[in-house]
Amino acid sequence: MAYCVSRFQTVRRPTREVLVGGVGVGGSNPIRIQSMTTSDTQDVAATVRQSVALAEVGCEIVRVTAPNVQAARCLRDIRAGLSAAGWGAVPLVADIHFLPQAAMEAVEHVEKVRVNPGNYADKKRFAVRDYSDADYERELQRLHEAFSPLVMRSKELGRSMRIGTNHGSLSDRIMNRYGDTPLGMVESALEFLRIAESHGFRDIILSMKSSNPKVMIEAYRLLVERMDGEDMHYPLHLGVTEAGDGEDGRIKGSIGIGSLLLDGLGDTIRVSLTEDSVYEIPVARAIADKAMSLWRGAAPAGPAADSIDPYHFERRAAAALELGAAPVGPGQPPRVIVRVPAAAAAAAALVELASPRLKDTPAEGLLVPVGEPADLETLRRCLAAAPKAPAFLVLELAPGLLPEHVEPFLAAAGIPGVLMRRFADGAQLAVWASLARRTGSFVAVDATPGELEGLASDVKAAGDGRIIVTCSGVSPAGGDHAVGAYRRIVEILSHARSPAPIWIRNTAGTSVKADGSFLSRLIEASILTGSLLCDGVGDLVSIETEADPARSARLAYNVLQGAGARISKAEFVACPSCGRTLFDLQTTTQRIRAQTAHLKGVKIAIMGCIVNGPGEMADADFGYVGGAPGKINLYVGKQCVQYNIPQAEADAHLIALIKEHRKWAEPEPAHA
Ligand code: SF4
Repeated sequence: MAYCVSRFQTVRRPTREVLVGGVGVGGSNPIRIQSMTTSDTQDVAATVRQSVALAEVGCEIVRVTAPNVQAARCLRDIRAGLSAAGWGAVPLVADIHFLPQAAMEAVEHVEKVRVNPGNYADKKRFAVRDYSDADYERELQRLHEAFSPLVMRSKELGRSMRIGTNHGSLSDRIMNRYGDTPLGMVESALEFLRIAESHGFRDIILSMKSSNPKVMIEAYRLLVERMDGEDMHYPLHLGVTEAGDGEDGRIKGSIGIGSLLLDGLGDTIRVSLTEDSVYEIPVARAIADKAMSLWRGAAPAGPAADSIDPYHFERRAAAALELGAAPVGPGQPPRVIVRVPAAAAAAAALVELASPRLKDTPAEGLLVPVGEPADLETLRRCLAAAPKAPAFLVLELAPGLLPEHVEPFLAAAGIPGVLMRRFADGAQLAVWASLARRTGSFVAVDATPGELEGLASDVKAAGDGRIIVTCSGVSPAGGDHAVGAYRRIVEILSHARSPAPIWIRNTAGTSVKADGSFLSRLIEASILTGSLLCDGVGDLVSIETEADPARSARLAYNVLQGAGARISKAEFVACPSCGRTLFDLQTTTQRIRAQTAHLKGVKIAIMGCIVNGPGEMADADFGYVGGAPGKINLYVGKQCVQYNIPQAEADAHLIALIKEHRKWAEPEPAHA
């Protein structure tokens, strides 16, 4: 069964409407924006201040942690304070982990309660045991008894609820039966959902968060498929947890949330950033606006499904291409291409791209527009003077360029060339493919899905290992989106039995609701590139919206890392902080990053508390977790190896631990 109406166009998934106070979620409502306060909940004045600040920048639903019954009691005064400040229409949500008593208190005061099915009625002990069917049934009965009082009280008071599953905080029961998988996440939510329905309570929103966008995307798709199978139509709250801060946090959030929104899933979103919560709102707003601008009312004509399995990640098998020092194909990471605006700009770009600063984020291909034969001579001179040549060149050929103009340049270039252009017909493609074979070059076919339909057999005939396919001309005006266009291209190539590698081009033309800002361009690139990479599609990537080549390369590598497709630096999993946080997450994350960012491939989690931190730091190699006020616990994987280190000494202990596990390298001068 499909999880969405169309993977090519954005048709919103129909859901029931759930009222969170007076704010409707799902149904015909717009995508709602939400965030969370980070103050100590028992500091009522500070929490009201933060809630007001969030409401003022457009946050429509505010979540507040209730780590214990005293904090839950404070929600009454926070609710009153927010209303007194003129924001009575902004609903509050109590965030509950572990303590049903706190939930029972909170539901009296706020419009919605979020429970985590991984820990509402279960203590997480990472225990490994076999559950017989009878054991499992007994566990479910225990769950029913623990969860039912909250369900019934919510129903009486007209509250709504979020069943919010987090990858990494699944119960031992679920872990032992389903493993740490998207299926386990879905089953975890469904257990709670069935209990709620048994009491006739349906004011429920669901979430399936993970710090890994790939896992999160699969889990939401699977959840919808399973809910449809049980005739359940609940709205979805989308989010990527522990995404971190800065560019990386925005990229991860955009990949996970944007990808699902493009498929029509998602009714309310939170972009988690390890920054002040108010900074989350413009990012969430921009992602939601882009998605809503694509909504179509009715199911589109044409194919609804494709042959990519949306529930299991598998990289599309592409032909090998010998692109010099940056080969493409099986076992190779997606390659990064950087575009310069004109041949004359190549000299400066080649100097900039040769900087040692870019050692881990090299521009492997240089894309150069060639409008006339003289541009080739300019490019030849630039290459001759360059401190370092790229692994390959991509020549973006104007229609007037002929093979005889290009052949001498290719013969003398000394590095592989890729000839990119649009082709009027198969005969024209055959001429250029013949030139590519003679000169050891390659051809990039830039075509819309409609154009590629007519060329697919010629692409196959030109020979595997010689052709790349890309698509830069999708206009969102007709309701199409670029992710859908690339998916159609994959289908067309699959029917033609062509394994031609696919080059994801992020160009200004693919933009939807772009306002020209860097944030807008970052979101666009993350959604297009990240969605496709999480589908297993994409062998080369270029982000052509950036004028600065170094910035273009850096953004491409950051998107590749966010999608888990190529690792070029250390990765930081950092919680967004909340009322439980035991240290300043923002400055701590920045400080640890400054010391360890050069440790390529090492994953470090920085988590504010031991209540949720260890469970939610996913598959990090090392964890820095708030153990008590002023004290840090250090982890290797899921194992706590040092307790209660004074915070002033914790960085040094963390570095010593990384060294002990042979993952340390001294920073090079460029990093230092
Ligand atoms: S891990 Fe961070 S965001 Fe999660 S509960 Fe602890 S302090 Fe709050």
